[in-house]
Amino acid sequence: MASVSFSNIKKSYGDVDIIRGVSFTVEAGEFLVMVGPSGCGKSTLLRIVAGLEEITAGDLKIGERVVNDVPPRERGVAMVFQSYALYPHMTVRENLEFGLKIRKESQDLIRQRVETAAKMLDITQYLDRLPKQLSGGQRQRVAIGRAIVRQPDVMLFDEPLSNLDASLRTQMRVELKKLHHELGATMIYVTHDQVEAMTLADRIVVLNQGIIQQIGSPAELFERPANRFVAAFIGSPSMNFLRGELGDGRFKAEGLNIRVDKTPFEVGIRPQHLEITQDEDSEVVMQVEVVEPMGWEAHVHGMCGAQRMVAHVRHDAIANIRPGDTLRFNVEEGCAHCFDESGLAL
Ligand code: ADP
Ligand code: MG
Repeated sequence: MASVSFSNIKKSYGDVDIIRGVSFTVEAGEFLVMVGPSGCGKSTLLRIVAGLEEITAGDLKIGERVVNDVPPRERGVAMVFQSYALYPHMTVRENLEFGLKIRKESQDLIRQRVETAAKMLDITQYLDRLPKQLSGGQRQRVAIGRAIVRQPDVMLFDEPLSNLDASLRTQMRVELKKLHHELGATMIYVTHDQVEAMTLADRIVVLNQGIIQQIGSPAELFERPANRFVAAFIGSPSMNFLRGELGDGRFKAEGLNIRVDKTPFEVGIRPQHLEITQDEDSEVVMQVEVVEPMGWEAHVHGMCGAQRMVAHVRHDAIANIRPGDTLRFNVEEGCAHCFDESGLAL
């Protein structure tokens, strides 16, 4: 395993700046997830680490070595792609062996590595099949196996679960986390899916338009987002953003009257932090429009005065609520996020 350091990395295509000065270090053995909307530059950054893209400016280090001009196969990295990229005419075993054969490893070593990886990924029974005889999930395991057998210092994953259906994605997420524990390898994982980022990462880098918005643990990003972009991107349903007027230490609008200890332009409240109350002096009043039951919990959508709002509550708390009804909430202590006019957290 090795650390990976980005030092003021920039990447342009012609006069279009895609990566605009990215600096951070992935610690050796860390599971780091880069998350951001489609087109923000995640794949570009990963391809830069793999050596598949040239850097326009800045330095990239793997371990202690600057690798700007080191060819991909000498970097000690292996990459897993969303599209699997298996060789269709080779069996699973041949796909797993291929990278090692090219490196002229011994037969014994190759057999042993392939068997260990196959066992780890539970694909031993498919070793003699062709990729087209496997399901999507099994193919993605083979693609991961192909990276593992090379025992890279750094493993790179570019949205590896995006082609899988929802339940398989959840299962593979757990297995990837287990794999990281077993291998102890440095992993850099790219996704547009904040749930994947939150569940997998030791640390998350949030990227937008080629600029880092925040770096932190999943809990830090959820509890202390640095700006409105991160606040809106992390968490589901998305944070409620509410405008109002300041006065007497309170932030007020129609249906809204909350205590604040700062001077926000806008206040953000997570749907999970709205607590139902019968209190006539509640901080929030919502006219219910739609209830989405989900078994144990429910999302309630409605209007707080003229502003949209979603609350995430226990279903039994709103079992008799209908569209048109009024719900009252208080905001959980210390959970109102304050933002200035530029969107920075106060
Ligand atoms: P992400 O993986 O976050 O969706 P990418 O890193 O693939 O984003 O792309 C970032 C931006 O760079 C996009 O706007 C994309 O259109 C642009 N881009 C990627 N590759 C090239 C290329 N070879 N030439 C020009 N623009 C590119
Ligand atoms: Mg991409």
